[in-house]
Parts: sequence; C-alpha cells; structure tokens
Amino acid sequence: MELIESRSIFSPATGFIRRGGFEWTCNPYVGCTFSCAYCYAAYLPQNRRPPEEWGRWVTAKRNAAELAERQARKVAGQAVYMSSVTDPYQPVERSLMLTRGILEALVPHRPRLTIQTRGPLVSRDIDVLREFRSLRVNLSLPTDSERVRVQFEPKAPPLEKRWDALSQLKDAGIAVGVCVTPTLPIEDPDAFARRIADFAPAVLVCQDFHDAGGRFGADTGEEARRLLAEIGWGPADYRRFVDRLKRDGTVFEGETGFFPPPAAQSVVAAPAPGLFDDCE
Ligand code: SF4
Repeated sequence: MELIESRSIFSPATGFIRRGGFEWTCNPYVGCTFSCAYCYAAYLPQNRRPPEEWGRWVTAKRNAAELAERQARKVAGQAVYMSSVTDPYQPVERSLMLTRGILEALVPHRPRLTIQTRGPLVSRDIDVLREFRSLRVNLSLPTDSERVRVQFEPKAPPLEKRWDALSQLKDAGIAVGVCVTPTLPIEDPDAFARRIADFAPAVLVCQDFHDAGGRFGADTGEEARRLLAEIGWGPADYRRFVDRLKRDGTVFEGETGFFPPPAAQSVVAAPAPGLFDDCE
C-alpha cells in the first residue's frame, strides 16, 4: 500500500453522479483491493496503473481526515457521494480509519451524504453515521449466489456479511439502499426477491450488466463479460428478475437509482414491509 499527501478530499461531482444530483465526491483511497472483475474504476484516468493490475494495489490519502476537517465547510448542506472511484470500506480502512475520520469531520456540516460500499466494515461506524441528518448507506449485493460472487468479486466480502451489515444499519435507524448492481446471475430469483422485499430497503437499485458504450460503468471488464457468457445469463434473465422485483415495490434501474437522500433525513422510521417508497 502506498501513502500519499493529497491536496483536497472533496471533488466536484461529474458524470452519472452529477446527473443524479450530487455536488461532490469523496474518495479516501485510490485503487481498490476488492478486485471486482467488472469494475469500471479500473479504467478511469486517475488510475495511473494498467487496468490489468486493478485489485492488486491501493493508495491511501493519509491526510484525508485533516483535509476533511479543513474543507468540510465547502460541502455543508450539499450532496456528497462517497466513493466514486474506490470502496471507502475496503480492508485497509480497518486500520487506517480514513473514512471514519472524514465522517467525523463532516457531521457538523450536515451534508446530504450517500455512502456506497461492498464492505460490511461500514457497521463499525454506526455511532458516527447516526449523527448525520441526511444519509443513505448503499450496500452492493449483486447476486444471491456465493458461487457467482466468488467468480466476479473474488476478494470482496461474502454476501451474508453484507446482509448482516444491512440489518445492523437498519436496526440503528439508518436509511439503507440495496444495490443489485451490476445485476450478476441470480440463482433463485424468486427467493432473492422475497428476501429483499422482506428487508424493505429505502431504495432498491438494479443495473443491467451489458456494454453501455462507456456511458455508465459496470460494463467494462472483459473477464466479467466472459464469465457472464459462460454462465449463460443475459438481458432476458435480467428483465425477468427486475419484473419479479417490481411486484413488491419500486425498483430504480441504472443511474436513476443513484440520487442523494432527502434533506434533513437521517434516522428514519422503518418502512412498511415490501415498500420502497421513501426514496422519491
Ligand atoms: S468494490 Fe467497487 S471500486 Fe472496488 S473493485 Fe469492486 S466495484 Fe471497483
């Protein structure tokens, strides 16, 4: 792992994140050791290493928390997406606690914060997360199958640990999103749909796994496309799954699902089972 001094920790949002209504992005790290086969971040210009090396390196902004202390004022009350090119709760965060430091610095400035992660480590910070007045934590759960997860996300946390984190967050009164993004092959669509409906996330997002011509991510990994073809999962399977999910509530697709939480919302009442209706 490389440690660097950074000059800023909040960057103006661009692309689908900007279109979704976010003003800022926040990336405590560059690179990501979760190593997802489909990761679009591997191809972004800020990564100066070849895409083939993606997943084998991470650079930490060692002064991230100090920067956040100094710069959080400029994002006060605005929509911040954490993180756009890395995972804020990848393994190195356990010891470095840069994400936690940024969160602590942000709390007094009341941003509308969205955290996007595959890392159950996010539940470590529930004490800080509860302090936000406008927050959503999005956990990525792209499949119901550990076998599929291992094929596409070999170094990311097991799915059940993510479910555990979702439950802990929700039990703490924190709004949570379930992101079936990109939607990987699903072993038992009906059972997965029922489990999600029973959990009743604040927001449910799906993202078809296809080549979008670079317009939106999750479509760029050649190895991921090869795996998908090998498993035999295609657009018709995706559509059937989404249609099944829609029987139980609202499903946002693609970038339409990545929008900030409502202003001044943080500790929320649990939604009624089967409804995803506090997201509009
Ligand atoms: S966790 Fe996110 S940033 Fe990390 S490799 Fe997977 S998709 Fe990319």
